[in-house]
Amino acid sequence: MEYKRILLKLSGEALMGDRQYGIDPKRLAEYAQEIKKVTDMGVEVAIVIGGGNIFRGVAGASAGMDRVQGDHMGMLATVINGLALQSACEDAGIPTRLQTAIKINEVAEPFIRRKAIRHLEKGRVVIFGGGTGNPYFTTDSAAVLRAIEIEADVILKGTRVDGIYTADPEKDTSATKFDLISFEEVLNKGLKVMDTTAFTLSQENKLPIIVFDMNTNGNLVKLLNGEKIGTRVQ
Ligand code: UDP
Repeated sequence: MEYKRILLKLSGEALMGDRQYGIDPKRLAEYAQEIKKVTDMGVEVAIVIGGGNIFRGVAGASAGMDRVQGDHMGMLATVINGLALQSACEDAGIPTRLQTAIKINEVAEPFIRRKAIRHLEKGRVVIFGGGTGNPYFTTDSAAVLRAIEIEADVILKGTRVDGIYTADPEKDTSATKFDLISFEEVLNKGLKVMDTTAFTLSQENKLPIIVFDMNTNGNLVKLLNGEKIGTRVQ
């Protein structure tokens, strides 16, 4: 198998399903089933979860709130999502640990790199909550950072579109999809994959990113079986 250890990035919004806010238990259960299929294949799975379905620091700041305070709320939102995802994974029969970048010892383990790697080696899914633990960062940056730290082979960014397009396919019907694209090309063409901090961290560390549609059942397994799913940035 090409990928032995993966870092799956799920946005908070992905957990909303068809809702406007919060967590859709049905969507969560579907994700857990998809994750189960890949752990059964022997792939080691780490997950970074976002918080945009609950709170974003920027949104708070634009409404007059102190940005750092808002980012703290956003980071806590990712922990809420992490707990929900852990629960869904355990319901699906996957042993799962949640590690957070900000210490909430009664609720989750603190992030300890060696411990995270040990969990993965033992076949446990590790969910990283709390982003990077710092304001002014995003969970995309946390995903790249954690992926590098645990020496993941790839970042799989699960979205609702099936890859990177020449333009936004939801707005421009003539947009075409890339199967493969370089980091430089993404930057030169001004395409949006992740925020710049996250993207350049991935580029500098030669960590490939695959953007794919996580909402189509079976896609994650197909991708890991080597099928051409999504767009690979390398
Ligand atoms: N956040 C933060 N530092 C981090 C990661 C996240 O302060 O390292 C905060 C920030 O306010 C962000 C919110 O948590 O808006 C939720 O994360 P993000 O927007 O990345 O979630 P997603 O878009 O993936 O749902």
